Amino acid sequence: MEYYENVVDLIGHTPLVRLGTLAADIPPLVLAKVEYFNPGGSVKDRIARRMVEAAEEAGQIGPGGTIVEPTSGNTGVGLALIAQRRGYKCIFVCPDKVSEDKRNVLKAYGAEVVVCPTAVPPEDPDSYYSVSDRLVKEIPGAWKPDQYSNPANPRSHYETTGPELWEQTEGRITHFVAGIGTGGTISGTGRYLKEVSGGRVRIVGVDPEGSVYSGGSGRPYLVEGVGEDFWPATYDREICDEIVAVSDQASFACTRRLAREEGLLVGGSCGMAVEGALRVGRNASPDDVIVTLLPDSGRGYMSKIFDDNWMMSYGFLPPADGTTVGDVIR
Ligand code: PMP
Repeated sequence: MEYYENVVDLIGHTPLVRLGTLAADIPPLVLAKVEYFNPGGSVKDRIARRMVEAAEEAGQIGPGGTIVEPTSGNTGVGLALIAQRRGYKCIFVCPDKVSEDKRNVLKAYGAEVVVCPTAVPPEDPDSYYSVSDRLVKEIPGAWKPDQYSNPANPRSHYETTGPELWEQTEGRITHFVAGIGTGGTISGTGRYLKEVSGGRVRIVGVDPEGSVYSGGSGRPYLVEGVGEDFWPATYDREICDEIVAVSDQASFACTRRLAREEGLLVGGSCGMAVEGALRVGRNASPDDVIVTLLPDSGRGYMSKIFDDNWMMSYGFLPPADGTTVGDVIR
């Protein structure tokens, strides 16, 4: 019989697929690591597992413990499924702008979701930062992973994503191109690839226009999961050889092409990363092997990127009545 003991054993070892259509005119081989094959549907399952394991080893969480994290997205799903398998409780704190669909995903895994007002500053006692800090203090046995400062976040990529890419490409990878959110993916994977290749692999960060990593002051941009308005401890500021800034419009256009032309229904940060990889690829040689990473699936974005009316409302698609579109509204 062939089976896994439980879903946690399904994390990692995701496949590489060639972007044969989008990169057809580009000299090097362009490959994508498809992270929606993880059991929680995103790359964040990797960090969730390692952060919980590290906390157990350090005695920060144990039987009957509760995980408290301000998140509504992929990290929440990863933590929820690990917590459930290990018998921990999970409380996620999120702002009220987060869609009911996203909250219901977390509840479906058995997590509790606390909703806080969006329109208050972070230091307000009702903000989702303040509420999550208070819950950690008040609940006995509570632990907050804090993906923005937890060293197990980049380490999980140093230990899994990096070695997987090196093995899958038989050491032929020349460029690693990835979006930067907490910076865990690019810092951990990048450091492993630099070390194992003697500095030969070029590390390229991709960032939404307006975010700090590419020299902006913060928001606003619409692509989710990447870009920041502060410098998280999980991002190694020395790791990138180059940073490419991509607009929302270019990110979403590429995201839609991935679904239509490659059969890859993925999220907006994936379109952003691929757009960055294609730009890098135009100046690369036919011997190069460019690998980019696709963090999550497109299922969570059906009422945004894959909805024509939403795209039109921001000027990312021409209006259906044929009137001319003005400048892209951000
Ligand atoms: N894309 C999505 C959809 C994400 O949720 C994240 C994580 N915030 C990223 C990209 C960026 O990954 P990292 O935090 O490792 O930089």
